[in-house]
Amino acid sequence: MLKVQDLHTYYGQVCALENMSFYVKEREAVSVIGANGAGKSTLLKSIMGEVRPKSGKITLSDKVITNSRTFRLVHHGMTLVPEGRQVFPYLSVWDNLLLGGYTLSHKERLKMAEEVSEPFPILRERKNQMAGLLSGGEQQMLAIARAMMVSPKLLLLDEPSMGLSPRLVYEVYEKIAELHQRGTTILLVDQNAEMAIDFCDRGYVLMAGRLVGEGTKQELKETEIVQKSYLG
Ligand code: ATP
Repeated sequence: MLKVQDLHTYYGQVCALENMSFYVKEREAVSVIGANGAGKSTLLKSIMGEVRPKSGKITLSDKVITNSRTFRLVHHGMTLVPEGRQVFPYLSVWDNLLLGGYTLSHKERLKMAEEVSEPFPILRERKNQMAGLLSGGEQQMLAIARAMMVSPKLLLLDEPSMGLSPRLVYEVYEKIAELHQRGTTILLVDQNAEMAIDFCDRGYVLMAGRLVGEGTKQELKETEIVQKSYLG
């Protein structure tokens, strides 16, 4: 579904991603793990058209999307749950959801808000409250549901566990797994290697802008670099 070939991304003279090649198949759950500053966000931003790669090729369902505008990628069926959630704190929970469906008609948006909130009862219970009053975990649920408003074929998630207590991290990952079971293809990046590896079918290890490991869930767990650097 997604293929990234020889991707290089720079910030000025600084190389943030070097020679990245990887793929995500339809219906797969793929994780990229890496420490602070490894380039995880840059990777998702490069795919999502928020940062311009210097070179390389990205295809989504066999269509070349390198350097496509973000809104076009949403139309092509790919959405991103950004790092830090980025909900609109002074808008209601429901209005945040509706904003995620900006490409839809009003009637479709209302229908989709009902649909995407179904796995997240808390969003229905608190639909009229300001989103900023939700807990971190609830805001993460809202950000995920908002990204689901356009029924993406491929959902990208940037650090879904960031700033959450271990219990909430578990709950958020359970919800992501539920969306995956319902048929959404997932690519996520996270520092929380344990959760990200447990969740995925396959994964990659990113270090200082380079992929240094890859494999199935089991293979990753047995990789020396993962054991030494991430799983203690
Ligand atoms: P974190 O988990 O801390 O968000 P990350 O793995 O997502 O880290 P990135 O945010 O992609 O890492 O950053 C990769 C590298 O690029 C880092 O060295 C970072 O300082 C640098 N970088 C990121 N954004 C910019 C920017 N806008 N301008 C210059 N350098 C940047």
